[in-house]
Amino acid sequence: MLKIENLKVKVDDKEILKGVDLDVDKGQIVAIMGPNGSGKSTLSSVIMGSPSYDVEGKILFEGENILDLEPDERSRKGIFLSFQYPVSIPGVTVSSFLKAVVEAHRGKVSFSDFIKELKEKAKLLDIPESFLSRFVNVNFSGGEKKRLEMLQLLMIQPKLAILDETDSGLDIDALNLVAKTINFLKEKNKDMSFLIITHYNRILKLLDVDKIYVLLNGKIVKEGDKTLSEILEEKGYDWLKEKNN
Ligand code: ADP
Ligand code: MG
Repeated sequence: MLKIENLKVKVDDKEILKGVDLDVDKGQIVAIMGPNGSGKSTLSSVIMGSPSYDVEGKILFEGENILDLEPDERSRKGIFLSFQYPVSIPGVTVSSFLKAVVEAHRGKVSFSDFIKELKEKAKLLDIPESFLSRFVNVNFSGGEKKRLEMLQLLMIQPKLAILDETDSGLDIDALNLVAKTINFLKEKNKDMSFLIITHYNRILKLLDVDKIYVLLNGKIVKEGDKTLSEILEEKGYDWLKEKNN
């Protein structure tokens, strides 16, 4: 599904990613862990096509190098990136926002079909119908922002969902909502893959993670299975820093 080869990324001549290789297979949940400043968000922005970076190497999505594609083209190919700090859109309701998002991915949908599907999906997440007519992220709590993000994920069902620190600062209910959505989608849609970026083990404990990479100072320094996140929870990242300096 996603294959990254020798990815090097610079901003203003500052090297941020220093030759990253990674693979996400169809249907997999892959996690990237690493301390603050290691380059995790840069990696997700570069996969999505943010223009602010100098990029070398390859990002293959379903076998095609997507480096020359614009962000909206990448999104239409099925790549979705969640935002760590979602913006408010006063005047635009959750349902009209989601209709626009869905249409950007699938093309025009009929209003009645869309609303029917939206209500079904909202129900799955225990989201009340009144939520759908609120303005996007306006006066939303952290948990409500997360509900909207998860609802968006359920509606779009992208081939690759990149969740960048989607678990940061969440209370246990919101964390469970995120895990429930991911687990539901993994079960229902065998074509979907997930790249979960986090520096905590707590979300990974709730998921059936296939592989974990550790990104440190712009390099993948370790790869392993779910037990790796437990080791990191216990020992932190310092033992890896010492080995890789
Ligand atoms: P993480 O998400 O792992 O915390 P980031 O990818 O946000 O790490 O940042 C990695 C490093 O790259 C940091 O040192 C950060 O300051 C730097 N960096 C990221 N984006 C930019 C940018 N646009 N301009 C300058 N430096 C940047
Ligand atoms: Mg980050």
